[in-house]
This record gives sequence, structure tokens and C-alpha cells, in this order.
Amino acid sequence: MTTTPKTLITGASSGIGAVYADRLAKRGHDLVLVARDKARLDEIAAKLHAETAVSIEVIAADLTNEADLVAVEAKLREDAAISTLVNNAGASGAGNFALADPNEISRLISLNVTAVTRLANAVAGRFAKQGNGTIINIASVVGLAPELHMAVYGATKAFVLFLSQGLQAELGPRGVRVQAVLPAATQTDIWRRSGADMNNLPPMMKVDDLVDAALSGLDQGELITIPPLSDTSMWDAYQAARQAMLPDFAGTKPAPRYTV
Ligand code: NAP
Repeated sequence: MTTTPKTLITGASSGIGAVYADRLAKRGHDLVLVARDKARLDEIAAKLHAETAVSIEVIAADLTNEADLVAVEAKLREDAAISTLVNNAGASGAGNFALADPNEISRLISLNVTAVTRLANAVAGRFAKQGNGTIINIASVVGLAPELHMAVYGATKAFVLFLSQGLQAELGPRGVRVQAVLPAATQTDIWRRSGADMNNLPPMMKVDDLVDAALSGLDQGELITIPPLSDTSMWDAYQAARQAMLPDFAGTKPAPRYTV
């Protein structure tokens, strides 16, 4: 007997999340769509249901709101049909750390870090027990590039990458797939929402191309997918350089340069 796959997507009301919803519905997944804009989610659900006949639930939730986050966690824990989580909802910041509003910083960390972590945690136990399940975390190349002057946003995305790699190490051997997707600049609403100068935007990837590449990476079994990176040996070399330091981290004495 084959069961219909069911996927919960956060941030499904626009941009990358909405394209995941489209592509996964067309792959025959039942969906649970999460975001704040319920009217928009209902519209997307009706369209995709008409096109594909998959069943689609909508949960209106502000993932920076504790009660809403708890409700989405409960859905992930209790709905045993959900076999994939697309941890996509996120926002960007305006940069300029010295001038940043502390409440805005907290909100960004709450959405990009706390919600992502808690939603992954909500499925991890069940997926590990079952020996299957997929978690897709949307990070960003900004998490690899402190030079871009987006310190808080980049730090949240570095967190998502690290979390994904940590979960790969912990849950991979138990049958759970964890993919981190690192988009570069992509044509979505995130730019307008973050207050970016709309007349001064960088060249960007089309959002359909980004999600199709990310799903291709998933199909190929990639753990880290960086859609615009043409030579993956560069990523492998980066990981090898990091791993080469690990034996030294077990040292119990300061390195010679610190001994006087
Ligand atoms: P987007 O079009 O602005 O979509 C963001 C999604 O997150 C929307 O569905 C939004 O829906 C939802 N969301 C925002 N705040 C929320 C909250 N408090 N609670 C629940 N949902 C919330 O941007 P996008 O580019 O598709 O972003 C998706 C992910 O890709 C983000 O994690 C982003 O950091 C990452 N990313 C984007 C780019 C890029 O250049 N576009 C590059 C790298 C990484 P509602 O407003 O309806 O809540």
C-alpha cells in the first residue's frame, strides 16, 4: 500500500514557499500551508486543489507569536501523515547593525532562528522513531558572507546552516533526511518587505528556477544545496578546511603562539 506524502510548508503565502507548494502539489503531496496571510493561503490552496486534487489544509499563524508557534508544533507532532517539513518562513533585515531597532532584531531571530529550530524539533522525534522523514531548511548564502553587511540576517542563516548540519549528523544515521538550501538573491517579496531600495537591487535568480534547483538537489540526495554554485568542489574544500581543524580542537594546551 502506498501512502500519499504530506508536507507542511511555512511561509507558503508568497515567494519561495508558494513555489514549493505548487511543485509539491504537482508531485502529489497533500499539503499544510502556514503563514500569517490566511486569505492568500486560502487562494493558493483553492488554486492548487483545483489543479491537482491534492488535499490542502491552511493554518494562519504568526510564527513569532508563542501561541501560534505552539499550534504549528502540535500539528507537526500529532499529524502522523506529515512526512516532510519545509522550514521556509523567514524575513530579512535592513542591515546597518548600529542603527537597528532591538525589537526588530528580536523579531527576526524569533522567526528565522527560534521558529525554525522549534518546528524541526517538533518533527525530529517522530521522524527518528519512524526511521524516515525529510526536513528542508531554507538558509541563505548570506550566512556564508559576513562581508555583505547583513550581520543579524546572515547570523540567523548561518545558524540555520549549522542546525541543518548538526541534524544531519544526529538524525541522518536514523533515517531522517535534512537538506539545507542556500539561495542567493532571488526574485521574491522579501526585498520590498525588508525595506530595500527597489531601484538598486542586485541581479536575481527567478524564484521558480530556485525552487526547481532545490528540489533537484533533494532528488539527487544533496544535504547542502546552493543553487547558483556551479563548482561543488569549492563547497567540499570549504568543509574539508573546517574539518581539518577538528583534531586540534581536542588539544588541552594553548597553541604555542599563546605561550610566553
Ligand atoms: P517572501 O516572499 O517575503 O516570503 C516570506 C514568507 O514567510 C511569506 O509567506 C510570509 O507570509 C512568511 N512569513 C513572514 N513572516 C512570518 C511570520 N511572522 N509568521 C509566519 N510566516 C511569516 O520571501 P522569500 O524570499 O520567499 O523567503 C523565503 C525564505 O527564503 C526566507 O527564509 C528567506 O530568508 C530565504 N531566502 C530568500 C532569499 C531571496 O533573495 N528571496 C535569499 C536567500 C534566502 P505572511 O506574510 O503571510 O506571514
